[in-house]
Amino acid sequence: MEPFDSAGEAIFRRDALDWLAANAKRPANPPISPSVIVVEWSPDEEDQKLAEARAWQRRKFEAGWAGIAWPPEYGGRGGTLVEQAIFTAEEAQFDIPFDALAVGTGWCGPAILFLGNDAQKQRYLPPLLAGNEVWCQLFSEPGAGSDLASLTTRAVRDGDEWVLNGQKVWTTLAHKSDFGLCIARTDPTAPQHRGLSAFIVDMRSAGVDTRPLRQMTGASNFNEVFLSDVRVPDTDRVGEVGDGWRVVITTFMFERTSVVAVGASVADAFIGLLAERAPDNRRQRDRFLRSLVAGKALGYTQLRLMTALSQGKVPGPEGSLGKLVATMLLSDIYEQAIDLLGPAGLLAGDDAPDNGDWQEAFLGTPGLRIGGGTDQIQRNIIAERILGLPKDVRET
Ligand SMILES: Cc1cc2nc3c(=O)[nH]c(=O)nc-3n(C[C@H](O)[C@H](O)[C@H](O)COP(=O)(O)OP(=O)(O)OC[C@H]3O[C@@H](n4cnc5c(N)ncnc54)[C@H](O)[C@@H]3O)c2cc1C
Repeated sequence: MEPFDSAGEAIFRRDALDWLAANAKRPANPPISPSVIVVEWSPDEEDQKLAEARAWQRRKFEAGWAGIAWPPEYGGRGGTLVEQAIFTAEEAQFDIPFDALAVGTGWCGPAILFLGNDAQKQRYLPPLLAGNEVWCQLFSEPGAGSDLASLTTRAVRDGDEWVLNGQKVWTTLAHKSDFGLCIARTDPTAPQHRGLSAFIVDMRSAGVDTRPLRQMTGASNFNEVFLSDVRVPDTDRVGEVGDGWRVVITTFMFERTSVVAVGASVADAFIGLLAERAPDNRRQRDRFLRSLVAGKALGYTQLRLMTALSQGKVPGPEGSLGKLVATMLLSDIYEQAIDLLGPAGLLAGDDAPDNGDWQEAFLGTPGLRIGGGTDQIQRNIIAERILGLPKDVRET
């Protein structure tokens, strides 16, 4: 039993562990790279990883371990957010597939659960939770990343439908997705944040053109998505017209919170490496201890986030604080790991220590510091909303 578990939570944890032990392998050492670290896959690897993720998701869904805090009528278990966090933490200790479905199950799905109407929840949430339908997030544009509220994709009403035109970019797994949660401008005359609305876009609709972006590694996990006269029924608008910014904030909050959860498990894996290659260097030991303390502090930040969520609130600045600390911690730990590996830290592939997982995680972590809002944007949010410092200069 963990120190913060209630009696009911301790029973839940034991049941979860029993199911996980019966359905997945527990590796000798904790996993090095948490499932949200960005990795580079060839097209074949991508198909394989996606198939594995869908199979694992379906297995959890069928056994009642998917959507633990979601209501049963939408395919969930009807449990609490604390139980969800317990399951996620325990699951991370097992050898499970990379969570290629996280954009749907972790970010877009919860946003629809919070802000969608009943018909949308009934239609979209169960297949998403079962791993049958893959989702992407159509937010960023070539001219609107950090300053997302300046986005220019337009949605114009035409009877019972909306007609979308514009371009999105950096859309992870759009080329494999069935649906996208898209933010578009519905009122160009309103102040930036108030002229936006959110839509569920069927990625197979006429006028959706998904073009993979080739990364320098040769992989193509991102896309540009061109929307040309794409028709979306008004029934697929999420939230009120003009309230799209709320959908953005809610989705980001879930995205940021998911990153907070990973710090501690990575710190555990690092302890293993440290034990094998104990540095006799005081500076390295000091740096490691600082990482360990940051990992523990992050655990408490996560508890605060969960408390807010369980009270029906959408946490704001706490998510930014957690994301900033978690991603800085991950960068620092992986950098220390590469140092500790010495010359072997330069290797990649099967003959590298731990199959090159440390190296891959080291290279993937900068992506985490950009996606979901960069470090600088998190610092702006913390400065303005927690410290009450003067606001960043904005258009409106
Ligand atoms: C791994 C990964 C996955 C992603 N997946 C998706 C996805 O699925 N869907 C999606 O819509 N987007 C996705 N993105 C895009 C991501 O949301 C944007 O890259 C991010 O918001 C930054 O926007 P930008 O790239 O346009 O950079 P810019 O906004 O142009 O920023 C450039 C630099 O300027 C700094 N900067 C900008 N404004 C300020 C300011 N006001 N104060 C201080 N510094 C500032 C930034 O911190 C950054 O260092 C993903 C990105 C990554 C890396």
